[in-house]
Amino acid sequence: MDSSGSDQDGMPPYRVRTSLRAIHVRLQVSPAEGLTVIVPRGFDLNRLPAIVEKKKTWVETHLRRFAAAAKSRSADPPALPETIALAALGESWQVEYRPAKTARVGVRSAEPGRLVVYGAVDRPSACLAALKLWLRGRTRETLVPQLIHLADSHGFKFREAVVRGQKTRWASCSARGTISLSYKLLFLENEAVRSVLLHELCHTVVMDHSPRFWALLTRFEPECKAIRKGMRGAERRVPAWAEG
Ligand SMILES: [Zn+2]
Repeated sequence: MDSSGSDQDGMPPYRVRTSLRAIHVRLQVSPAEGLTVIVPRGFDLNRLPAIVEKKKTWVETHLRRFAAAAKSRSADPPALPETIALAALGESWQVEYRPAKTARVGVRSAEPGRLVVYGAVDRPSACLAALKLWLRGRTRETLVPQLIHLADSHGFKFREAVVRGQKTRWASCSARGTISLSYKLLFLENEAVRSVLLHELCHTVVMDHSPRFWALLTRFEPECKAIRKGMRGAERRVPAWAEG
């Protein structure tokens, strides 16, 4: 037996349910129905506002938690891409999603410019993970050789190159000479990428950003400061699906 809710001043709205089995008044909070007050048969409903008032903080805390949980559930993964433009390589890929009866998702390029995402393609997060793995591989195939070529032609030495999906940095160079490249570099113009690669290679000689560092970089990249300036806000070129 439901009766309609009440919405008095500053009071959470609630519905009242009479229960034949209830002995005491009971408050129940659920994500779907909000606050329900269960009362024994014959209970004087005029007493309810005072009872609810007393439990107000408890009720509001729970309602807030439910709302927060619902919000985080509805934070959908970003939409899957239909095309992928890799500015650094001058490549554009059409993406096709092909369902197959398997729990995993794979990516393969059947022909240049065409990418097939296959498998459990109804799982967006699995598709995103597979596409990021593909970006990583593409970076390894293209930007790492470019880094090696630049190092060879300018006489730099580094220990190894690794590809990651760093959140905030395009690339970095450790004191031990490991250069990390973010696959997000693929979304930048090649001039910017080349400048980032040279920047890290110069760090194999000068670790900090002292005048000595800039003097060294300027020798290989006279426009390095202008290019760096032009890269402000370049993170926006990275599509949402490739983030994180
Ligand atoms: Zn630096």
